[in-house]
Amino acid sequence: MKIISGIEVSDKIKSDIALEVEAIKLRGGKVPHLAAVLVGNDGASQTYVNAKVKACEKVGFGSTLVELPATISETDLLNEIEKLNNNKEIDGFIVQLPLPKHINEQKVTEAISPLKDVDGFHPVSLGKMVLNLPSFLPATPYGIVEMLRHYNISTEGKHCVVIGRSNIVGSPMSILMARNTYPGNCTVTLTHSKTQNLAEITKQADILIVAIGKPEFLTANMVKEGATVIDVGIHRIEDATKKSGFRLIGDVKFDEVAPKCAFISPVPGGVGPMTIASLLKNTLLAVRRDA
Ligand code: NAD
Repeated sequence: MKIISGIEVSDKIKSDIALEVEAIKLRGGKVPHLAAVLVGNDGASQTYVNAKVKACEKVGFGSTLVELPATISETDLLNEIEKLNNNKEIDGFIVQLPLPKHINEQKVTEAISPLKDVDGFHPVSLGKMVLNLPSFLPATPYGIVEMLRHYNISTEGKHCVVIGRSNIVGSPMSILMARNTYPGNCTVTLTHSKTQNLAEITKQADILIVAIGKPEFLTANMVKEGATVIDVGIHRIEDATKKSGFRLIGDVKFDEVAPKCAFISPVPGGVGPMTIASLLKNTLLAVRRDA
């Protein structure tokens, strides 16, 4: 069994990006600048956004954090987005989800200019992805694809089972794994809350991507010997022994599943850091698109 280290792969991506930023600076080019919009003060969202801003600083990007109150109206938020769309200094930006209930997330997602959509959630970005045209890939599935590439994991002709069909993880993941390229060329089964006999399906998977959002849902009896398992889930579990008061676990019961796997990504240290690295990659791409 080999651990897929998202830390190792993302460090490599980030150091390559840092070198590229140095080269951009030397030739007097535009230094990439990412903005992140945070609405309200949800603890987990704050943690994610801070990690993204910190990652920008580390690779030499410019970064702007736009903090807005949870009470902001949808119209005012859409106005803020329009300002970012028109701000020439900002190459790409994200609006951290989830948003407060009174704001329509789809409307907000569609208000972001596709040229600055570094989260890859805009219908234009997703449409291009489906057609295998150059586009901003959604950051989490993009990160998973890059992990599979880094570890040279064979995908052609394999059976890939994805658990979960969200717009940001499961659905785009299933499309990427079926594309006629590497990593891809899998036979893909996309499972969801209405799927029957889930374990019968997961046991057939050569590659199993778990994005169900339920702590330690995937158990050893659901996995074939020699499978590759990618755990997308992130859950905070209270833990008094930790300084923060919590620890992170995933959607996979790691201790019992890992011994059966050829490759497995852990939580923390798996998909999470890759999502941030992909966001940085997309921001670099956004600068090149402007040029
Ligand atoms: P979501 O809640 O939007 O989607 C969950 C999916 O699971 C749904 O499509 C649902 O149909 C499916 N599902 C529910 N019950 C099922 C069942 N019994 N059998 C099969 N499918 C079932 O979640 P999401 O946004 O895709 O996120 C999933 C997890 O990944 C969460 O824990 C989230 O925190 C985490 N996440 C991590 C990152 C990262 O960077 N590591 C990024 C995004 C999401």
